[in-house]
Amino acid sequence: MDNLKRYSQTLFAITAVTLIGTMALCLTAWALLSKFFVDDQFLKIAAWVPIGTAIVIGAVNIIVRTAVKPLSVISDTIVHAGHSSRGGVAPNTNSIRVGRQLISSLAMQVYDLASISEQSTVIASEGGTSTAQNTTLPVVSSNEVLDHVNLPLIGVDADQKITVMNRSACSYFSVTAEQSIGQKFFDVCKLAFQTDETFESWLDKQQETTLTATRQWERVRITDENGKALKQFDLAVSYSKGNQTGTETMLALYDRTETYAHDDQETGFVAMAVHELRTPLTVMKGYIEVFEDEAAPLLSPELNGFVQKLRASAEQLTAFIGNILNVARIEENQLVLTLKENDWPQILQTAVADLELRANVAGKHINLQIAPDIPKVAVDRISIHEVINNLVDNAIKYSGNTDRIDIFTSVNQDGMIETSVQDHGIGIPTAVMPDLFQKFYRSHKSSVQIGGTGLGLYLCKALITAHGGNIWVRSKENEGSIFTFTIQAFDQVKHEQADSKDGIMRGAHGWIKNHSLNRQ
Ligand code: ADP
Repeated sequence: MDNLKRYSQTLFAITAVTLIGTMALCLTAWALLSKFFVDDQFLKIAAWVPIGTAIVIGAVNIIVRTAVKPLSVISDTIVHAGHSSRGGVAPNTNSIRVGRQLISSLAMQVYDLASISEQSTVIASEGGTSTAQNTTLPVVSSNEVLDHVNLPLIGVDADQKITVMNRSACSYFSVTAEQSIGQKFFDVCKLAFQTDETFESWLDKQQETTLTATRQWERVRITDENGKALKQFDLAVSYSKGNQTGTETMLALYDRTETYAHDDQETGFVAMAVHELRTPLTVMKGYIEVFEDEAAPLLSPELNGFVQKLRASAEQLTAFIGNILNVARIEENQLVLTLKENDWPQILQTAVADLELRANVAGKHINLQIAPDIPKVAVDRISIHEVINNLVDNAIKYSGNTDRIDIFTSVNQDGMIETSVQDHGIGIPTAVMPDLFQKFYRSHKSSVQIGGTGLGLYLCKALITAHGGNIWVRSKENEGSIFTFTIQAFDQVKHEQADSKDGIMRGAHGWIKNHSLNRQ
C-alpha cells in the first residue's frame, strides 16, 4: 500500500503544480493583453478566451495522461496474462513515469494469479477432468506431469539454474535429472545459435528490463567439439519475472535433426551440381566477351543491347553459383579467407564498374561516394566482392521504380571503414528485420514477386564477420533500405599476419556458441 500512497501523493503534487501553472499562465496572458489593448476591453477578452482555453486544455491533457497511463499498462497486463499463449501486447512498465512501482507490483500479482490458474488447468486436463472439478483431482506434482510430455522441457530460475528438466529433455542432453537440477543451465546445455542474439544474451536482457517475454529460435544446434551438428532443433522460450513457482523461464525444444540434416545434405548436393556449371559458364562468358569485342561494331544498337543483357545474365549466374558454393563451405566449416592489405577505393571502383552493366540493364544507376583518406584495408578480395555484389544485387532487385543506388564509404569513430549501399525502393517491415541475415530467410512480400534464394544476406554476414566487421540494416517500408558493413584497417590487424606475409587466415563462423567457455 506504500506504493499506492506514493502514487496518490505524486499525482496530487503533479495536479497541484499543473493547476497553479495554468493559473499563472492565464494571468500572465491577461497582463500582456492588458498592455496591448489598453483601450479596447472587448478585444482584450476576445483574445484572452482562446489563449486561456488552450492553456486549460493543455493542463487537463497533462493530468489525464499522467493518471491514465498506469491504467493502460494494467489493462495490457490483464489481457496479456489472460491469453493462454500470452498473446496481446506485452506490458511496458518503462513507459510509466508516475506510479511505476505500484503498477509493476500489481502486474506481477496479475501474472502470478494467471500462472496459478494455468497450472491448475494443465493438471486438470492431464487428469481428464475439467477445471471445475479441481478438488477431486488426484494430487499430481507438476514434474510428474512434465515427465509424461514427449517434448523436451526445461525450467530455469532467476539465477539461471535448472529447476525442472523432464525425462525427454534429460535423454535429449544425455544427463540425469540429478546431474542437472540446481546446475547452471549454460553449463549443462551447450547450444550453438545462428543468430547474434543467443538464448543467454536474450535472457540477460529480459532479466534486466522486462516482466514477461517470449522468443523462438530456429536451427539451434548441439555440436561436438569440432563444430559438427549432433542435434538440431527449434527452441521456444517463455519468460515470466519472479514467477511464484520459482521457474522464471520455460524452454521447449522441437527436434528437427532429420529435417535440417536433410536440408544440409541438399545444400551439399546442390553445391556439387552447381559446381559443374562453373566450367561451361566460364566458356560462355569468354565467347560473349569475344563477341562483344569483335562483333559489336557490326551489330545494330538493338542487337548490342541483347548481347549486354546476355553478359549481365551470365554474371548474375556466376554470382549465384559463388553464393551456393560459399554457403556449402560455411556449412562444412571449410571457408577460409586470406585477408591482405588492399586499396579500398580501388576495390569499390572495380566492383561498381563490374556491376554497372547489371544495374543499367535493370534501368538503375550506381552513384559511388568515397571519403578522402581511407586507409589501406585488410580484406579477402574475392569474398568482399561477393558481399558488395549481393548488396548491390538486392538494391537493384528491391528498388522498385526508383533508379538511384548510392554507395558511400568513410572511416568511422572506431577507425573501421564503414560502407553503405542505399536504395530508395520497397524497404523492409520492422518486424522481419531481425531475421534477414538468417539462412534461407526471405520476406513474405518479396518471395512471391521477386526471385531469390534467401542466401545472399546470410553469406554477407558470415563473410563480414570473418573479416572482423559487422553488418546491419536501417530501412523504412516504401522509402528504401541502407545496408552498412564495416571492415578493419590493415594497420589494426597486421600483427595477426604470420611471418610468411601471406596474409591473415580467417575462418567463417556462422554459429555462435552460447556457453560460458565460448564467451571468454
Ligand atoms: P534474396 O534476395 O535472394 O531473397 P537475401 O538473403 O539477399 O536473399 O535477402 C533476404 C531478404 O531480405 C530478401 O528476400 C528481401 O525480402 C530482403 N531484402 C534484402 N535486401 C533488401 C533491400 N535492399 N530492400 C528490401 N528488402 C531487402
